[in-house]
Amino acid sequence: CTRLCALLGAPVAHSGSPAMHNAAFAATGRDARYLAFHVEAADFATAVRGLAALGAIGANVTVPHKERALAVAATATARAQRAGAANVLSFRDGRILADNTDGEGFVRALQEAGHELAGRALLLLGAGGAARAVVTACLDAGARVVYVANRSPDRAAELARACDAQGRRVIPVAWQDRERCLAEVDAVVNATSLGLKPDDPSPLAGWSSARPGTLAVDLIYARHETAFLAQARGHGLSVLDGRGMLVWQAALSWQCWFGEMGPVDVMADALDRFLGKESV
Ligand code: NDP
Repeated sequence: CTRLCALLGAPVAHSGSPAMHNAAFAATGRDARYLAFHVEAADFATAVRGLAALGAIGANVTVPHKERALAVAATATARAQRAGAANVLSFRDGRILADNTDGEGFVRALQEAGHELAGRALLLLGAGGAARAVVTACLDAGARVVYVANRSPDRAAELARACDAQGRRVIPVAWQDRERCLAEVDAVVNATSLGLKPDDPSPLAGWSSARPGTLAVDLIYARHETAFLAQARGHGLSVLDGRGMLVWQAALSWQCWFGEMGPVDVMADALDRFLGKESV
């Protein structure tokens, strides 16, 4: 019978995930459907158990439930534990398993675009759930150092402390000093939610001290180009938006659910159609 995969979050209406997964199910002949559900925090655990009881294959989890997803699972992969959050749940033999494919999705998207992380220095703007997954995956991929600047300094310090405890090189930077790091790094990553709205300002005031060849990556994927990427492009820098990361975390979710990667090209085309973008 037709199997179910779900997206749980609040909000979910803007998500490109149903378009990607349903296109991939159709292309691979899997009898499955992917549906997005708006779930409030108080209902999250009940919704997850309900999906498990219905025999669903699994779920993706998005803002603001990724930490809850880790808590509700019986077991979690090492990378989900390190990230302190899960974006994938699998229901297997009555058990709930948690994983986090956001970080590896980010790394694979960079690799696909020809950017290796080994030996590189990064400036990460933001210290929320996505930032945490990205920083651990970048360090796993060999990044030399990651500077983290966050509007609320406690969260950047906490992220650095958590990584320190694992023997990793993460350096918190005061939010007002973030531009000063530009000359030190090979890539700058926007992991804040600043840019989700088309008229949001850039989280970086200026790029004048960036080295030529610096890469600007925005985790945001949207119909509009963010001010962050538009300004980086204006300075002649290489830019990458969040589409690749979204596609790769989705393809990696299939590994959790079906034991094989999802079809990346099909998912990327479906996402571009959903966003009304030309394929890249
Ligand atoms: P969180 O809510 O956990 O974190 C939000 C972050 O944005 C915090 O660091 C917060 O800082 C910062 N922030 C919010 N508003 C401002 C502001 N006005 N000025 C400066 N900083 C601000 O969200 P996530 O970490 O889950 O997501 C972050 C972004 O990454 C989102 O835009 C999301 O869409 C994107 N994302 C993309 C994915 C992809 O596959 N492409 C996957 C996951 C996320 P503070 O701590 O001070 O509040």
